[in-house]
Amino acid sequence: MDSRNKPFDVAVIGGGVIGLSVAWRATQRGLRVIVLERSDPGGATSRVAAGMLAPVSEAVLTEQPLLALGLASTRRYAEFVAELEEASGLGCGHLRCGTLLVGRDGDEALALERELALRSSLGLEVRRLRASEARVLEPALAPTLRLALDIPDDHAIDPRRLTAALAAALRGAGGTVRGQAEVIAVTIGDGRVGGVQLADEQISCEHVVVAAGSWSGMLAGVPDDAQVPIHPVKGQILELRDPSGAGLLARVLRMRGGYVVPRGDGRYVLGATMEERGFDTTVTAGACFDLLRDAIELVPGLAELAIEQLSAGLRPATPDNLPAIGPGAAAGLHWATGHYRHGVLLAPVTAELVVGGILGDDQLDGIDASAFAPARFATVGAGA
Ligand SMILES: Cc1cc2nc3c(=O)[nH]c(=O)nc-3n(C[C@H](O)[C@H](O)[C@H](O)COP(=O)(O)OP(=O)(O)OC[C@H]3O[C@@H](n4cnc5c(N)ncnc54)[C@H](O)[C@@H]3O)c2cc1C
Repeated sequence: MDSRNKPFDVAVIGGGVIGLSVAWRATQRGLRVIVLERSDPGGATSRVAAGMLAPVSEAVLTEQPLLALGLASTRRYAEFVAELEEASGLGCGHLRCGTLLVGRDGDEALALERELALRSSLGLEVRRLRASEARVLEPALAPTLRLALDIPDDHAIDPRRLTAALAAALRGAGGTVRGQAEVIAVTIGDGRVGGVQLADEQISCEHVVVAAGSWSGMLAGVPDDAQVPIHPVKGQILELRDPSGAGLLARVLRMRGGYVVPRGDGRYVLGATMEERGFDTTVTAGACFDLLRDAIELVPGLAELAIEQLSAGLRPATPDNLPAIGPGAAAGLHWATGHYRHGVLLAPVTAELVVGGILGDDQLDGIDASAFAPARFATVGAGA
């Protein structure tokens, strides 16, 4: 079939940070792309994210492929953002601020020593700081601090500004973003994608990218043996504003069970809960209390700030906590989902992998994406 008879080469289902990044990069490579978003672009989980770009802080011995992917995305981030800001004319709030992991008592200090040893053994950039040294860097830290680790290369970005810039850059490059457009089914016949079905419209295309976050496993038309099992993990997050502007904290702070992320403009994000509650996004008094208690114990000055917003989002998780990136069982079907706690970090590298898969690039800068192959779930999806 001649793809030129079709209005689009690629339909991307979902306009979150992942779908928009894939669509922007695909459009830049000359593909005719439409993003179909059932609410507003960037309006679901990506809107709630803290925006930490933190592969080193979050390194876990048993998740080495994820660490490698996170580091690969980190290497791309500064250029990705610079290009995006230039193309969109919008700032993304990319703060190259570094991160401190902090321990508040003897137990937490011991745990930090183990985290230090792990990162050193993996060759990751990390520096042990005495409490007094950490308080020189961040004077707002409580005097009760015991120990800190300086992670200079873990930064942060404002995910809302990022998705706004992505949508603008995509449109500027000639791509289409359609809001209030829910995809009901992927059309597949004879083992090949034919397009997507909306309530009152069929859109034909050669490639369909499933980037529907926590809802990615709900699309009709995808064969059982091609499904990726996704479940939502709820996270509540609190945004504060310092009426006197920026300056209380310069770096991201991470403590046991939570974090404080500066936005660089007087806003601070306190996160986050991890809750298995299906698709519930209620915000609760208990979560607000827990987030404030832990953060204010660490940075007493936060108690003076204004509360802006408490929000909840649904992290798209797979059974092995790794994303599903790449082609599915049917020709023309691609997955970009399951990014769980790392979708903002992994957006640049995911876009590169998916667009590379669509165009048949064979060299992707040494990234081994085999651990993220959607096919690893084939038997799970088939109900085995
Ligand atoms: C509290 C919290 C804190 C987080 N902090 C961080 C962090 O610091 N760093 C980090 O990297 N990650 C973080 N994350 C994770 C990150 O937010 C996610 O991994 C990321 O947003 C996933 O992006 P996405 O585009 O896949 O999903 P989404 O942003 O959810 O986008 C999917 C889109 O698909 C649309 N959609 C669904 N079904 C359909 C359909 N049938 N038709 C059309 N559209 C559809 C939805 O409306 C939605 O807009 C955090 C998450 C939470 C909840």
